[in-house]
Amino acid sequence: MPSFTSQELIERIINHFDIVDIVSQYIPLKKAGRNYKALCPFHEEKTPSFVVSPEKQLFHCFGCGIGGNLFTFLMKWEKVTFPEAVKMLADKAGISFPTLDRGKKKGVGREEAYRTNELAARLFQEILEKNKAIQDYLRKRGFTQKVIREFGLGYAPSSGDFLKLARQKEISLKNLKQSNLVGTSQGKEGWYSWFRFRLIFPIFDTEGRICGFAGRVLDNSLPKYVNSPQSVVFDKGKILYGLNFSKEAIRKKEEMILVEGYIDVIALHQAGLENVVASMGTSLTPSQVRLIKRYSDRVLIAYDQDKAGIAATLRSFDLLMNADLQVEIVNMPQGMDPEELVRKEGIDSFLEKKKKAIPYFDYRLDMAISNRSSMARRDKGDVVAILFSILEKTKLEGRQEMIRRLSQRLDLDEESLRAELSKLRGRERGFFSRREFLEIEDKQMSTEKALLQLMLNEKAIIRIVKERECIDNFVDSSHRKIAEEMIALLEEGEISSSKLINRLGEEKFSSLISSFSLSEELSQEEDKEQVAMDFINYLQKNKKRRRFSEVRKKIKESEEEGEKIDKWLYETIELNQFRKSKS
Ligand SMILES: [Zn+2]
Repeated sequence: MPSFTSQELIERIINHFDIVDIVSQYIPLKKAGRNYKALCPFHEEKTPSFVVSPEKQLFHCFGCGIGGNLFTFLMKWEKVTFPEAVKMLADKAGISFPTLDRGKKKGVGREEAYRTNELAARLFQEILEKNKAIQDYLRKRGFTQKVIREFGLGYAPSSGDFLKLARQKEISLKNLKQSNLVGTSQGKEGWYSWFRFRLIFPIFDTEGRICGFAGRVLDNSLPKYVNSPQSVVFDKGKILYGLNFSKEAIRKKEEMILVEGYIDVIALHQAGLENVVASMGTSLTPSQVRLIKRYSDRVLIAYDQDKAGIAATLRSFDLLMNADLQVEIVNMPQGMDPEELVRKEGIDSFLEKKKKAIPYFDYRLDMAISNRSSMARRDKGDVVAILFSILEKTKLEGRQEMIRRLSQRLDLDEESLRAELSKLRGRERGFFSRREFLEIEDKQMSTEKALLQLMLNEKAIIRIVKERECIDNFVDSSHRKIAEEMIALLEEGEISSSKLINRLGEEKFSSLISSFSLSEELSQEEDKEQVAMDFINYLQKNKKRRRFSEVRKKIKESEEEGEKIDKWLYETIELNQFRKSKS
């Protein structure tokens, strides 16, 4: 959680608002017993399964599983980050926001870094405005004054000039250093500026604050681009360039166009296409994929289809698929990026290509086929193997259609392909698809959930879980994290689901917590502590059982490889005794 959203502020907001009031400003709520119900705004449904509880100050949809507190609701609805949601509500409540963390060191450091960046950006801009040669260069590239100003383009002079001008503007060396705008070189006296004789692109975060810079050379020297080094406010793996300008358009169009370069973003914006962002570097990071997912479910990748562009597309794919994003590829002419295409052929040419964007599956199919000189039976087998690996990651609904397209393109029987795929899936699952295993896992999961539910309702049970050191017996990492957080909160006094949701931040946690809080109690027994003890014992026993089969496997492997098995024997005896005594 960012430093400027203090716990105190969050508490004040939560006390100020009623989740029922907030949610009912967006969707009509109907009273149903102690709760309120509505048609879920986050998935299509005909009968209401979206529940808001005034008592617990939570919401949960029993249809799609989304849930949380009022911050979660705003984050989902307005597609904003946690700090943004906090700010929206703080403004609404008239609680002054930026003053709250005054005096906290980290917060001040960040604020100072933003301010320094702002001042430096202005300095770079002023230099650009005075430099006719650079202005001519930008004009030749087709950039208008308006867009140059909007994106805050500037120019970095020599090291000496930069330091002199910074001093005139009263930007301290300490601040320049903290924002990584200057550095010292080894064995030499004095400071040098990080950007020299480069066209400067300020890099904005989602809220539009300048968090870093990129500098581009204007001749053919290398490296073509230099980015700010990581700083208190800049982490390029967590930023999509241009998102601050494009988020509205992305929401409206429900699609995001992903390009490689800053210049591509600016050129497309200028041509009127605004739902565009650039990855900072060629392949995406998990943080960037989460950022994409927050704004759109559909991504169109418009990278230059040279070798690097293709490799980047392939590398990013798994992350995008895992996030359940619909990925399409805009087929760019080889060696051309969107900026060049728009400059030479106009925006319509780009739009035409965008209209013909193909799903990732077909892109890979085309690529696999064109990489082969023949299409003999063995080649077809290779192509099928590549495409099956993608099918594995595709949602079930889409799969049938893809198999049909694969069979048409390769002229193979559709039914056989389908059978082949299901065989492959079965084999990979192996042991895990066996019935007895599934049953064990199911009971494990339901026990973990039931125990967490009891913990949420009664502090005494959290204490028991803590004392019995049960945390490591949770197999599901999200469940374990929630349990850990509850134990941590135990020390601080009051525990509520809403507080827990704020502490854990991520949507997967908020949805789990709201579902535990608002579902019927899984166990109807009166003596909750006894029930909890039974659950704890079960989880303990199941852990030993898993360890027992692991050790047996290890022994078997060691025997097969002629290694000594002594080290496993003692543990086996111990585990065996445990099994006998308790089952
Ligand atoms: Zn729903």
